[in-house]
Amino acid sequence: MASITDLLAQGRTLSFEFSAPRDEDGALRLDRTLARLSELRPSFMSVTYGAGGSTRGPTHDVVQHIEVDLGVTTMPHLTCVAHTRDEIEGIVARYRALGTQNILALHGDVPLDGPDHPTGDFTRAIDLVGFIRERAPFAIGVAAHPEGHPRAESRAADLEHHVEKLREADFAMTQFLFRAEYYERFVEEMAARGVTTPVVPGVMPPTNVEGLARMSAMNNTEFPADLRARLEACGDDAAARREVATDVATRLCEELLAAGAPGVHIYTLNFSEPARTIARNLEAALGRVEN
Ligand code: FAD
Repeated sequence: MASITDLLAQGRTLSFEFSAPRDEDGALRLDRTLARLSELRPSFMSVTYGAGGSTRGPTHDVVQHIEVDLGVTTMPHLTCVAHTRDEIEGIVARYRALGTQNILALHGDVPLDGPDHPTGDFTRAIDLVGFIRERAPFAIGVAAHPEGHPRAESRAADLEHHVEKLREADFAMTQFLFRAEYYERFVEEMAARGVTTPVVPGVMPPTNVEGLARMSAMNNTEFPADLRARLEACGDDAAARREVATDVATRLCEELLAAGAPGVHIYTLNFSEPARTIARNLEAALGRVEN
């Protein structure tokens, strides 16, 4: 399987993110989605890790399925909250044995009204990067928050935190966003501070108004009023909402790629549509058209 550092050096990447399933029904749906989306030959697929504990176990199994059965490069997510050094060491060793070449090193989601760092031997993603670097030759990615992390004390402190973290990483993946200008501004702010680590933007096809409002508030992502109005105008018509999502996400990806993004990372929410249509729409922009 490939290193994401090499993939980014070869050209623009197309990747898909999946959530580790919570139950058997979710696992079956995820399997179907993975099979459909693997047909598109994505550059890599990533699988989330439940910092709270509920979906920690399945991440390794899903990663193994993608690598071994589907033959697609993976990027498992790994969060450090509530983990000991020994536990992280064990998880990294298992991924090495599997042949995984990439990892996304994260702090992990914690409840907004709780303490920043509940328990565990690590308090920051950057410490996880250093720990993994000493133990495995992985391409290591980190999270970037172009609109600022909700817990940041100030924009300046947030930018400094990103500078420090991105310097140690091989690449970064952003929180989902709806405005390309926030991505551009963030990349410029990093470059102005001497950081040129590739930053791959995350794009979430917007279908569900309530879910998006909740996730946007949690992540400090602007949920544009005109997008909200477009989705609300669709009412209960799921097909119409999917059409809006496909259209909005395709245009956003095109803008991001035109702005110089080294690839796009689609948050699939474990559905094959609209991710599949978006990927097809982007074939030319990504230079993936076959002759
Ligand atoms: P860190 O880099 O450790 O920092 C978090 C933020 O805290 C910083 O951005 C900064 O604003 C602030 N901060 C910390 N230290 C300082 C400091 N010294 N000075 C100033 N500010 C500071 N969560 C999961 O639980 N599982 C997943 O699989 C998962 N996948 C994700 C994938 C992507 C692409 C992204 C963007 C996020 C993902 N998350 C996931 C969510 C992520 O864990 C949360 O956003 C978390 O709150 C922050 O993680 P981090 O790795 O950016 O943390």
